[in-house]
Amino acid sequence: MEKSQVIPTVEQICALYDFLSPCMDNYLYFYDVKNDYYCISENAVHRFAIPATRFHNSYKVHEQFVYSEDYKRLLSLGKENDVIHEIDCRWLDKKGMPVWVNCRGKSVHDDEGELIYVIGCVNEIGKEQRADNVSGLRSATLFYENLEKRLKRGNIKGFLMRIGIDGMKEINENFGIDYGNMVLQRTAECVQSVIHKDERIYRIVSDEFIISDFSGRGIEEATRLYKRINWMLGRFIQQNSYDVFFTVSAGIVLFDSLENQSYQNMMKLSEFALNASKDNGRNQYYVYDEADYQHFIDKCRLAHIMRQAVNNDYEGFEVYYQPIMDIVHNRLCGAEALMRFRSEETGIVSPAEFIPILEETGLIIPLGMWIIEKAIQVCKEIQKTFHRFRISVNLSYIQVQKSNILAQIIDLIEQYELSPDCLMIELTESGFMADSPKFARFCEGVKEQGILLALDDFGSGYSNFRYLFDLNPFTLKIDRAFTVKAIQSEHEFRLLRHMIEMAHSINLKFCIEGVETQEDLTKICEIEPDYIQGYFFGKPVPLPEFLQRHVL
Ligand code: C2E
Ligand code: CA
Ligand code: CA
Repeated sequence: MEKSQVIPTVEQICALYDFLSPCMDNYLYFYDVKNDYYCISENAVHRFAIPATRFHNSYKVHEQFVYSEDYKRLLSLGKENDVIHEIDCRWLDKKGMPVWVNCRGKSVHDDEGELIYVIGCVNEIGKEQRADNVSGLRSATLFYENLEKRLKRGNIKGFLMRIGIDGMKEINENFGIDYGNMVLQRTAECVQSVIHKDERIYRIVSDEFIISDFSGRGIEEATRLYKRINWMLGRFIQQNSYDVFFTVSAGIVLFDSLENQSYQNMMKLSEFALNASKDNGRNQYYVYDEADYQHFIDKCRLAHIMRQAVNNDYEGFEVYYQPIMDIVHNRLCGAEALMRFRSEETGIVSPAEFIPILEETGLIIPLGMWIIEKAIQVCKEIQKTFHRFRISVNLSYIQVQKSNILAQIIDLIEQYELSPDCLMIELTESGFMADSPKFARFCEGVKEQGILLALDDFGSGYSNFRYLFDLNPFTLKIDRAFTVKAIQSEHEFRLLRHMIEMAHSINLKFCIEGVETQEDLTKICEIEPDYIQGYFFGKPVPLPEFLQRHVL
């Protein structure tokens, strides 16, 4: 220190530290070298394994809270003649866990040049940021701290709204990071301009914000807030002549609806709520509902159980076979292979429930292959007594899009020496597939190989004639729901009759699903379909039962 400067006394410095400690996140330290007397601000004593704010015998005491590997390096501090020193090292927290800190200080010498004090500041290097410079908002760390503070005061009322920018990844990829940052900033500004004065907004992760309202407002105010945010964003986009375009989704969690008001639980549920609004189609809000969450958890559990089953040699999966009748010649012509799953924990699960989960998790890819191989094996076996028996298998669009399914099917056909026209691939309609080149190549490849294609569930969901002509399948399968309507309503029945005529005029075969009774059969036969599949001729059953009832 320069001679003209006044050196404060030890008491003065220690008193100043006591004043400053509550106002700081960092930790100030001071070492009186001559008296081997150490002083550190009080907040450090709360955080680290430091026994007291003031102590003698400094080096010995440091051994208690400095990570052993770093202790030796610390001993050299201040002994060198550098005026400023800096070191990164680990201090032990109250639980004995190492925490990275940066100690930066200054050595103070007296008039004779003798070292008298070391004075400085400790920062936690790994400590998360408390504010975010891109959005100009408070950070997740601060949200955590504020929530914890509120929770200490007891049960809280109000809501959390987690907001996500839809398609942020695509925005960054297509327009660049700067553009993405601008979208984030504008969203933050729009939200800030409409929130109530006692609501707070934080940036949680890259493209998500959270608004906390601890003032007891409820669902109506929360949804109104979302609409205001959307309106503000819409106005901003309009003012910019649609140069920028993006939408936001929101998940709302009402504190009242939560039994467990911990930070972890709230983050988990708000994330679930936001994902739900995105899954529902984005650009909307979703209010957390316990029953929905339970359903989601059950789905995750089922996915887990099925993944284990797949890894355990498909244990629990079975194939059932349902007869398909050639109604023109009044005889059995084949069967549809249908998947079943059962386990001790879940009992029997319906494919309507588990197929979408297999698709979401990608497990449909190994299982889809598994059922095709089983079906081909069984078909080949049945053909020993029933010449030209035909087997139908369902294929999910995921298998077509994300695996090399055609090559695998061709391998299997060759391996089992099955005639390709004894395998029928059933595909359902989906708007998504219509324009996919991979899907078009797959269908072409299937037909080139001589494998038969069926367009399944015709008359439900998308019924796109362009798709039908593009696909040009061998058979059109009418969804059971449509069959039921046609049996009940003259109008639908006439429609069905015309559909069959149209199909026959372009050489398509027509299969009607869901014929359950003799009356259904009599009625349906009036319009002369080619094939019928329904409970009247047989429900899907395990292979031995199928053989006994329909083949032997
Ligand atoms: P789908 O392909 O339309 O299969 C026909 C469904 O209708 C079967 O239901 C069958 O049991 C049912 N069904 C047939 N005739 C009648 C009837 O007369 N009355 C009634 N009430 N129902 C009848 P299931 O086996 O429950 O399968 C449901 C759906 O799950 C299937 O509909 C198919 O989309 C899917 N699925 C089943 N197995 C597989 C598979 O291995 N892979 C794929 N991707 N999907 C599968
Ligand atoms: Ca089918
Ligand atoms: Ca069907």
